Parts: sequence; structure tokens; C-alpha cells
Amino acid sequence: MGCLFCNIVEKKTPAEIVHENEHVVAFKDIRPVAPTHALVIPRRHIAGVHDAKPEDAALLGQLLLAARDVAEKLGLEAGGYRLVLNQGPDAGQSVFHMHCHVLGGRAMAWPPG
Ligand code: AMP
Ligand code: ZN
Repeated sequence: MGCLFCNIVEKKTPAEIVHENEHVVAFKDIRPVAPTHALVIPRRHIAGVHDAKPEDAALLGQLLLAARDVAEKLGLEAGGYRLVLNQGPDAGQSVFHMHCHVLGGRAMAWPPG
């Protein structure tokens, strides 16, 4: 069993990695919902943003900084992009290793579905 995204961090499960550093790994989403769709995850397992603790503050910051680096790397800076963290059932969270979606390449609707 184990955690799918921990397996991606450990390179046991293949993924199209677009960015990584000592804190995070970013890879293309397998079922993109926008022309550009990547996920940024902490290397360390945290189930969701609601499980983050005060001592995870720096890691949360690293996640956001990496998301902006990924957006720039994937050419989304000029057009803009959306960052999404789904938490729990109402948000439709399906993988319980915290991840930040980086979505871009088309205009996004608001409010979200
Ligand atoms: P969420 O619904 O916010 O939990 O998002 C989970 C995301 O992970 C979805 O957009 C899935 O398409 C994506 N996903 C699931 N399995 C993989 C995988 N093996 N590689 C890349 N993305 C995945
Ligand atoms: Zn995990």
C-alpha cells in the first residue's frame, strides 16, 4: 500500500518531474484539467493542509515559493495561474499527501466548481 505521492518522492512510482529541491517535488498531473497542470508536494508526508502544524510553517512557505517557481518554469507568469489546495471531502481531495495544484494556460472561472 503506502502513499502514492511518497512513492513519487522516493522515485518508486514514475512521474514527469518538473522541479525539485530539498523541500518539495513538483510533477505533471496525470489527469490535467488545464493546458498546464502540475502538483507541488512536500517531500515529507503531511496528509493535507489541515494536518500542518505551526512547526510546518517554513515548509508551507517552501511549497508556495516552489509553486511560483513551477509556474514560471512552465511559462505561466504572463498569463497568470491558479494555485489550489483541496482539503477533505467537500473540496474533492483524492490523494492524502498535501499537494498544491498549479493550473494555467486558460482563463479560470470564479467561483470554482
Ligand atoms: P486532489 O483531488 O486535490 O487530491 O488531487 C489529486 C491529483 O492527483 C488529481 O488531480 C490526480 O489527477 C493526480 N494524480 C493522481 N495520481 C497521480 C499520479 N500517479 N501522477 C500524477 N498525478 C496524479
Ligand atoms: Zn505521502
